[in-house]
Amino acid sequence: MRIGAHVDSTDPLGAATARDAETVQFFLTDPQAWKDPAPRDDAEALLASEIDIYIHAPYRINVATLNNRIRIPSRKLLMSHAQGAAAVGAKGLIVHGGHVEKGEDVAIGFDNWRKAFEYAAKSGGFPLPVLIENTAGGDNACARRFDALARLWDAIGEFEPGFCLDTCHAHAGGEDLLDAVDRIKAITGRIDLIHANDSKDGFDSGRDRHDNLGKGMIDPNLVVAVVRAAGAPVVVETPGGVEGQAADIAFLRDRAGR
Ligand SMILES: [Zn+2]
Repeated sequence: MRIGAHVDSTDPLGAATARDAETVQFFLTDPQAWKDPAPRDDAEALLASEIDIYIHAPYRINVATLNNRIRIPSRKLLMSHAQGAAAVGAKGLIVHGGHVEKGEDVAIGFDNWRKAFEYAAKSGGFPLPVLIENTAGGDNACARRFDALARLWDAIGEFEPGFCLDTCHAHAGGEDLLDAVDRIKAITGRIDLIHANDSKDGFDSGRDRHDNLGKGMIDPNLVVAVVRAAGAPVVVETPGGVEGQAADIAFLRDRAGR
């Protein structure tokens, strides 16, 4: 089992080594910006590295929204980041499930997801797996509650998207972690990546604040159980810099095994 961390994009390989990480995740641009990624000076090193690379797409992306002025640029940004991720040999591009606004029909959001994959298919499809991540908040989210996830997969399953399970988001989103892996696999058939995070907030709080394993509101044994059951690579997106993340990685490696 390969375990690592979300790190700063400046020197991801150095950051991985400092944490004894076997996987590393980073952003290609400011995650709050609408910006296509630029070619990276370290692309060759990233491509050649033994460390598994994952790229997280910008937070701005919401391909589900009914708002054209967000949805259309979101599709384009998702594709440009997929191309940037492929250029550094990433194993997957992680993107949040997105949402529609209050009072809007989430069914249209699922259909907009389908259109996003159709849009990508027109230009030959995404050059690497797109991993849709469950989110913590919102009443009209496409991938917060697993009943919504099932409807999302009804809409896009034919495009064989991947899935990234975030333990903080599941807990804060109101989904029990105990049997989460089985319930998700029944829907998606796969879990490609685990984001192993504790949550500063309670069950079903709808808040997205990550914490170090064992420091927040989630029983760390439950996170270990999820990691073991999923059998997927792991990225911790936890605070505390090198020290905090190295401790989380070591904890999971010790408890969940290699
Ligand atoms: Zn996450």
